[in-house]
Amino acid sequence: MSPAVESRDRLRIAIQKSGRLADPARALLASCGLSWRESRDRLFCYGETLPVDLLLVRDDDIPGLIADGVCDLGIVGRNVLEEQDAERLRGGATPAFREMRSLGFGGCRLALAVPESWSWQGPAQLAGTRIATSYPALLQAWLEREGIVADVVTLSGSVEIAPRLGQADLVCDLVSSGATLAANQLKPVATLLESEAVLAGPVGEFDGERALLAEMLLRRLDGALRTRHSRLLMFQAERNAIPQLLPLLPDAETPTLLQVDGADRLALQALCHGRLTWQRLEDLKRAGAQGLMVLPVESLLA
Ligand code: ATP
Ligand code: ZN
Repeated sequence: MSPAVESRDRLRIAIQKSGRLADPARALLASCGLSWRESRDRLFCYGETLPVDLLLVRDDDIPGLIADGVCDLGIVGRNVLEEQDAERLRGGATPAFREMRSLGFGGCRLALAVPESWSWQGPAQLAGTRIATSYPALLQAWLEREGIVADVVTLSGSVEIAPRLGQADLVCDLVSSGATLAANQLKPVATLLESEAVLAGPVGEFDGERALLAEMLLRRLDGALRTRHSRLLMFQAERNAIPQLLPLLPDAETPTLLQVDGADRLALQALCHGRLTWQRLEDLKRAGAQGLMVLPVESLLA
């Protein structure tokens, strides 16, 4: 690390300036108690509540900023992180960043998609074809694993129209709903990578003040990620109904049971991490739960 980086005692997190991950990344960090004073050019946001600053950049720049020590952490798609990691590996470089947490938004997959008219018989069919992609390193690594020699055509955007323009026979691109592929008469046939937004950081450890800040941020992040679908469930039941009720709460942490109205009536409260659907509430009611109440969880610190 350069001396300039070592002397920094504020934590710097890179997120996408605009695009699919920009708002959810900011919202997630805000839910960890961070807030920023916006700078006018919005490249740099100075942390107000904590010494944690934001750098707003293109997603493709995030792994490099971490590798160079310009940023400590970043929120980026696994697809971008893995592509740049594969690229570094091909160039003989050592890993310079790593995935620290998966964040549960920005879900998509890197998939091969062929014209709808093709009947798909498996990867061997790809030998000698031209494949358009913005992920040449991941595609090349996959082709090598499958033992296929094909022509990788690297494009920076509009990959899905390459077959119609005669630039390629098929594509390797990000897919979420599949609507863009369908609009271009393509169909996904194989998945190379399941992706979502991740927290990326350097391979090595932080030191000094930044180590403490990163540790605190991760602790809060883990709490925020856990509470995302967590709810506090409360109800009352007769003591003899409890054995039927507990199996209906497989995703609950050990419930707290309180005695009410004598020995036979209990109030139960449990932190549930799965989705509490109406159906589940009705199942609980049938099993003897009364006065069911579901409450949101504001914060959780393990
Ligand atoms: P930038 O200007 O920052 O370079 P971009 O155009 O490369 O932006 P976006 O289109 O905003 O990036 O996508 C950011 C990330 O969102 C992707 O890298 C991927 O991880 C995720 N993502 C989720 N669904 C999709 C999808 N259907 N298509 C593309 N990316 C998706
Ligand atoms: Zn990008």
